[in-house]
Amino acid sequence: MLTELLEDFWAIREKNVIKIKELKEQGRKVVGIYCTFCPNELVIAAGAIPVGLCGTRDEPIAAAEETLPRNLCPLIKSSYGFAVTDTCPFFFFSDLIVGETTCDGKKKMFEIMGELKPVHVMQLPNLKGDGLYFQLWVDEIRRLRARLERELCAGISDEALWEAIDLVNRETRAVKEICDLNRQDPPALNGLELLAVVWSKGFSADRSGVVDMLVRLKEALVERQFQAAAGKSCCCPGPGREATSVPQWSRPRVLLTGCPVGLGSEKVVRLVEEKGGAVVAMENCTGYKTLELETGREHDDPIVALAHKYIRIPCSCMSPNQYRLELLERMIADFNPCAVVDLTWQACHTYNIEAYAVERLAAEKGLPYLHLETDYSASDREALKVRIEALLEMAR
Ligand code: SF4
Ligand code: SF4
Repeated sequence: MLTELLEDFWAIREKNVIKIKELKEQGRKVVGIYCTFCPNELVIAAGAIPVGLCGTRDEPIAAAEETLPRNLCPLIKSSYGFAVTDTCPFFFFSDLIVGETTCDGKKKMFEIMGELKPVHVMQLPNLKGDGLYFQLWVDEIRRLRARLERELCAGISDEALWEAIDLVNRETRAVKEICDLNRQDPPALNGLELLAVVWSKGFSADRSGVVDMLVRLKEALVERQFQAAAGKSCCCPGPGREATSVPQWSRPRVLLTGCPVGLGSEKVVRLVEEKGGAVVAMENCTGYKTLELETGREHDDPIVALAHKYIRIPCSCMSPNQYRLELLERMIADFNPCAVVDLTWQACHTYNIEAYAVERLAAEKGLPYLHLETDYSASDREALKVRIEALLEMAR
């Protein structure tokens, strides 16, 4: 049962290519998004399907480098590479692309991507709080609403928006509950399983179906933990559990932070697990970064409610970005890691510079810390292995 449920998550992306194609033929619209700052509640409320397009594979990067500079973050190059080579079915199906002015590389890439598809770029303030910056963000979300209505020929009522908000809140809660099962030792999911569940859900055309899948998965994981505690079974092997024969309970627990990771760009997660560590939690956009954030009902205007939620995302493009450190501190207390791995994609200046503060936090908590700057290629695998091995030795 549990194995099948996990396999369903591994298969979401593939299955939904066909599903989205069928829905497009029936007239449904698709909106491609690249970042967690895009309020996908608006897309859902417009009756369209939001799909995550962030590039997580190395293959299209060479094509992207014909236009973009080589010393750019691989996530940006991969995203653009998929678009320009027309090799991502989700990009192909997208009627509109939504980007944000998060980092410099992304915002300039969106200008060029606009030659391929209609692109709407949200101007994101770099500062949280009330006042002028917040008002700008509220206006940007209203501007997105108007663009979606125009581009998708669909009205977005407040009622539909509150319904979409409830759905996304339920999904956030369901994902968080699964991630939180990894507070226990042994963790409920290994790093690759965790990634497959949290990352893959973004490709589903059926949001409430995904919430049901998450609820069923949580129940099955709780049951497995209960059986294991009762001595009836050990952690059963599932997809991704074959990396090494080291049992989950004897592995040094690792907290991964930094740039987003997806299937295809999971080499650091894979190496930690291959070398005998357990990635028990990820504080990044494909992990815990947004899981404490739900849209509240205390505001009458759903746009203002959404603005309050999204402006709190602790991305390194925010300055200052104190909430990330607070979140990391809570995660260290809750997930009890033995070490912190901080991943920076090459040329990502904001995460690279924040590594200074993360290292200091890890030192304060007495945790071994490893900052890795890498790209999507396999060229530095051996060097990474050595550094990860050394970290896990210190953590044992
Ligand atoms: S790390 Fe920042 S820019 Fe990248 S996806 Fe997350 S929120 Fe967006
Ligand atoms: S990883 Fe860094 S450089 Fe790359 S898109 Fe995200 S914020 Fe920008």
